[in-house]
Amino acid sequence: MRILLTNDDGIHAPGLHALYRALSSDFPVDIVAPEVEMSAVGHAISLSRPLRVKKVRKESRFYGYAVSGTPADCVKIALQELLDQPPDVILSGINLGSNTGVDILYSGTVSAATEGAFMGIRSAAISLDTRENPDFTFAARFSKHIVDFLGRHGLRDGTALNVNIPSCPTGRIKGVRFTRQGMSRYVEKYERRVDPRGNVYYWLSGEIPMDNGTPDTDGLALREGWVSITPIHYDLTCEKELNRLKKAAVSIFPRDL
Ligand code: MN
Repeated sequence: MRILLTNDDGIHAPGLHALYRALSSDFPVDIVAPEVEMSAVGHAISLSRPLRVKKVRKESRFYGYAVSGTPADCVKIALQELLDQPPDVILSGINLGSNTGVDILYSGTVSAATEGAFMGIRSAAISLDTRENPDFTFAARFSKHIVDFLGRHGLRDGTALNVNIPSCPTGRIKGVRFTRQGMSRYVEKYERRVDPRGNVYYWLSGEIPMDNGTPDTDGLALREGWVSITPIHYDLTCEKELNRLKKAAVSIFPRDL
């Protein structure tokens, strides 16, 4: 199994290095990651500027390719240009901070895995539920189980795994739950500030997730101390609404429009 690692925290992020350390002794591993942090860029790709690729060395050995683009760019250019062989598995992470609920729409970490699913490669996003003093030990070790799971069971076409790992001490992690994407979202506010030249600027802040009380969701499982695994799909069609609109359309749009 060849593994491609990427992320949205940038090629120098400790979370990516933790994945590399956990997996590179057992598998051939390639790294193609953004050269700088690209959190919350979602599924953006670079169209109006060129992509530059630099080889990065760590501990005096070749470590990976740094790309001047987004996580989705990294997956695309890895498969089309940089890698000699396509990977069997793509892992994106380990992200600093969870990716649950509607937040996954903004997530670069998750979008890299979704891009992998576009390409027909078994892919997973892995996020650790903390933004301070991260200990990636358990999450990195758990990623081996994810690789094993993907190798043995595969994934339905177009599906990726969104994995979130609690940041509590390993002994307090309750186990694994397969969950659905919750609809909870952050309570957001803009802080209004004034710069030294007297100009007003705004900074998005506020990060307390609202609890929507749905029992089998990613966010709730994570808060209760479970590793949450959600299968996600990029088909955004709402089937129920499609059927309702088809029926409603008869009375709105004349047939000879
Ligand atoms: Mn990130």
